[in-house]
Amino acid sequence: MPPLRIYNTLTRTKETFAPLVPGKVGMYVCGPTVYDYFHVGNARTFTVFDMVVRWLRASGYAVTYVRNVTDVDDKIMDRARANGETIEALTARMIGALEEDCARLGLVKPDREPRATRNIDAMLDLIAMLEKKGLAYRASNGDVFYSVRDFPGYGKLSRRNLDELRAGERVAVDDAKRDPLDFALWKAAKPGEPAWPSAFGAGRPGWHIECSAMSCRELGVPFDIHGGGWDLQFPHHENEIAQSEGALDRPYVGCWMHSAFLNMAHEKMSKSLGNFHTTREVLDSLDGVQGGEQLRYFLLHGHYRSPLSYGRDSLDDAGNTLRGFYATLREVPPEAAALDWTQPHAARFRDAMDDDFDTPAAFAVMHELRGEVNRSRSGELSGVLRALGATIGLLQADPAAFMQGAVTLDVAALVEERIAARKAREFARADRIRRQLEAAGVALEDKPDGTTEWRRK
Ligand code: AMP
Ligand code: ZN
Repeated sequence: MPPLRIYNTLTRTKETFAPLVPGKVGMYVCGPTVYDYFHVGNARTFTVFDMVVRWLRASGYAVTYVRNVTDVDDKIMDRARANGETIEALTARMIGALEEDCARLGLVKPDREPRATRNIDAMLDLIAMLEKKGLAYRASNGDVFYSVRDFPGYGKLSRRNLDELRAGERVAVDDAKRDPLDFALWKAAKPGEPAWPSAFGAGRPGWHIECSAMSCRELGVPFDIHGGGWDLQFPHHENEIAQSEGALDRPYVGCWMHSAFLNMAHEKMSKSLGNFHTTREVLDSLDGVQGGEQLRYFLLHGHYRSPLSYGRDSLDDAGNTLRGFYATLREVPPEAAALDWTQPHAARFRDAMDDDFDTPAAFAVMHELRGEVNRSRSGELSGVLRALGATIGLLQADPAAFMQGAVTLDVAALVEERIAARKAREFARADRIRRQLEAAGVALEDKPDGTTEWRRK
């Protein structure tokens, strides 16, 4: 097994990855709250962990990949009420859409997708254990809270100090809590809200206990990798550690991985800021044949721990780059052969990926290899290129179909649209159309009289 190194948020260092059971990996990723379509920021996190799963599998590990679905939450209740539909109808609709969008993005299906509402018993068991250990208490308002001050390791993931956290706590201290940092494990039933019977009275779970209970049930504790977006480090993952380690008295997770944000103009893309594009809206706007792979290439072209800026131009660039790869695969048909990791490009690609999933470096090797294929016209090297792409879910489409996808553009209409854009002095739009046409193999020539001539290259 090659030495894979992964940056562990818990230790703030790159560590040699050593799963608990040699050759096997258990991985849990925090999934979506299903009240709306997911946006391309969420898609970044899902795509990053999809790349991780694929690379682990390509490296020979048997991976059990779990991504949960949060289907009980305030946002879901509010949205269902606003839409005038039941919670079940809303979440069923959104889970259907989630599956469609993930398939269009080319994401592997997680081995298990536990839903919170189907694991309430596991959550209640965990809460009962915490209560027995003095780590949970019933408050006067009927809620059950986690007692943060009674768990000595609290803050170790996010490296926060409890006193600083308390001082920074701006929300009015909830009378029911003993400490402002305590968080709800179980929320007492309120009229009109979904509720389950329990020893603590009818109610519903808090968000954090869901992931502790479902990861423990699906993978057992400890397990190897826990992933999520950067924002989940605190409080969500810190609370997961407090719950799981507090209840079970053993370490929870070997390696914590967090993927950086997809930003819009330097701000995190998020539903609450309103600066988001849904994944389906973006995919709808792209060429169907290549849209999923184009978005995937864009989302993976930066390192997963560096913020990435969303922009239509970068997305277009990703499409052009992919077309370049596919043009090579069409020109020089790849020979099918098992990937030989001692081949120099393959070895360098693997080194890059084994260095904390350095996709930018791995893509650079693919670019070099593509140049090499173009020069040598070697079907064997072309086969290496395609096989390397396969390890991270790229370059598996039929090259001719991929290239033709872009050529089905209505060229005449786009040329007219570009002329109109230039007249309106919308030069960014005009440039984008020119790049789109050029990428599809159309050459443009602007005439002094303001007209444009075009021909196929
Ligand atoms: P949510 O549905 O908001 O709970 O988010 C689902 C997952 O997407 C979590 O792992 C989040 O951390 C992640 N996420 C949310 N917004 C972004 C963003 N702008 N960039 C990257 N990941 C994000
Ligand atoms: Zn979670």
